[in-house]
Amino acid sequence: MNELISQKWNKRPLIISGPCSAETEEQVLETAARLAKTGKVDVLRAGIWKPRTKPGLFEGIGTKGLAWLANAKKITGLPITVEVATAKHVEDALQFDVDMLWIGARTTVNPFSVQEVADALRGANVPVLIKNPINPDLELWTGGIERLQQVGVKDVGMIHRGFSSYGNTEYRNAPMWHLPIEMKRRFAGMPLICDPSHICGNRQMLQSVAQKSIDLDFDGIMIESRIDPDNAWSDAKQQVAPEVLVEILDALIWRSENTDEKEFVTALASLREQINQLDDELMTILGQRMKIADKIGEYKKNNNITILQTNRWNEILEKAFAKGDKLGLSKEFITKYFDAIHLESINHQNNVMNS
Ligand code: PEP
Ligand code: MN
Repeated sequence: MNELISQKWNKRPLIISGPCSAETEEQVLETAARLAKTGKVDVLRAGIWKPRTKPGLFEGIGTKGLAWLANAKKITGLPITVEVATAKHVEDALQFDVDMLWIGARTTVNPFSVQEVADALRGANVPVLIKNPINPDLELWTGGIERLQQVGVKDVGMIHRGFSSYGNTEYRNAPMWHLPIEMKRRFAGMPLICDPSHICGNRQMLQSVAQKSIDLDFDGIMIESRIDPDNAWSDAKQQVAPEVLVEILDALIWRSENTDEKEFVTALASLREQINQLDDELMTILGQRMKIADKIGEYKKNNNITILQTNRWNEILEKAFAKGDKLGLSKEFITKYFDAIHLESINHQNNVMNS
């Protein structure tokens, strides 16, 4: 990667900001100047080609916007990043010395497109961030990363921008935090950036989503910011003015995953030991529970009774909710937990009855 971006690539937290779309040269230059003035932004972003769900919406200014961004870089000294979805986008972006590229959520879903972008990147020494696919499929996300690595892209990072779901939730794209956490496990050490703007779809929740990502030890944040955000040609509702971005960043509480502080380390080790012990006991108990389920299966088999008896299951759940409430366990968790246990129990009985 080039000198400018390499100074930023390993910076923690990495802050990426800029408009959803480049619209006019003035808008790009003014936004860039005001973002640079904050002293808190590491990389300037802007969409040049916008994948819109429906035709007729603003589909991006196209290649001429790259010149505006290059100009913004010259004036502010900020490295720039744009979204690429085709081989032509990659070629154009590289021609204008774009310092970092990202692959959008609508591209990650399509292995043909990711491969096309990857092939165009062969031999280019530019870092690439890949957003999660719009649907919650970690294999697609993983496959995208592997395609980039296969063609020799050395510096790959991930952007978590949430997942589409049917019907309205409070989020534009549900964060499903367990999914980026799993990716962090799969690709240890690979930068993971949160994009609160596309998760939230509004300004009000940006702060809390950004904080959540920090608490989960993400490596950086990408937030859309633009002068006069209400008049943006795309994603107006979620963009904030550069000065509001500063307020958001200043209010964040940064925690680190590790510390050498002795007292803390010992206390943590002891608590973790207790957790390990309890997890071990839970497993033993679950094993015992399944053994009993096997026995019930035998009885049911001998007496020709169905495995599932709805009344009995409701009874178990009601009891569990009441007890969970006293113990500070949410109804949502109890439901998931008992569903999993129940399913395993049914599988055990199924094996017994059909063996
Ligand atoms: C964007 O970053 O402006 C964008 C189009 O995001 P996504 O690919 O996450 O929808
Ligand atoms: Mn956007």
